[in-house]
Amino acid sequence: MVRENEVRLNEVAVEPPAPVDAGLVYIGCIHTPWTFRMETPRQGRPDGPLCTIEVFEPWVAALRGIEAFERLEVLYWLDRSRRDLVLQSPASNGEVHGTFSIRSPVRPNPIGTSIVLLEKVEGATLFVRGMDCLDGTPLIDIKPDRTLFKPIAPPQKGDFETGQGDA
Ligand code: SAM
Repeated sequence: MVRENEVRLNEVAVEPPAPVDAGLVYIGCIHTPWTFRMETPRQGRPDGPLCTIEVFEPWVAALRGIEAFERLEVLYWLDRSRRDLVLQSPASNGEVHGTFSIRSPVRPNPIGTSIVLLEKVEGATLFVRGMDCLDGTPLIDIKPDRTLFKPIAPPQKGDFETGQGDA
């Protein structure tokens, strides 16, 4: 079942504390074919439909070099989600799971992440496959897929520390 905003059998909602402003800015907008949650994929797939990520000014300059990466990690704000459930029943069958043990869009800070395939960049627009969000979902960050990225800055002490010898 796709959630609109209902609370299901055995789910638990809490009174969330007042939000603290983390200073988040929407840096763009994601355009997808999906306008209803009922149709939206649960998770994006690499052979899914071509979607576009529009980056707003003044952030367009920040795209420099991005075309070198075949895969990107995209972070977005699941803006139409409720944020107060601690136990959720994805199957609507009364069996509940803790919010942090699942990837539901319903979370205290509704951040979604997807690994997408980058097909091309045209100015401020990225053409990608692998999204799973509603059309118009706000974009909060883009990073190279971590498995493709080697830090450019020199290594630091902690990079050489291992857990060997820990109790
Ligand atoms: N891939 C991301 C992740 O794992 O963090 C998101 C996964 S979440 C299960 C994807 C679902 O979130 C979609 O199937 C849709 O029901 C819902 N969704 C997508 N865009 C949304 C939005 N802007 N606001 C609220 N819910 C959204």
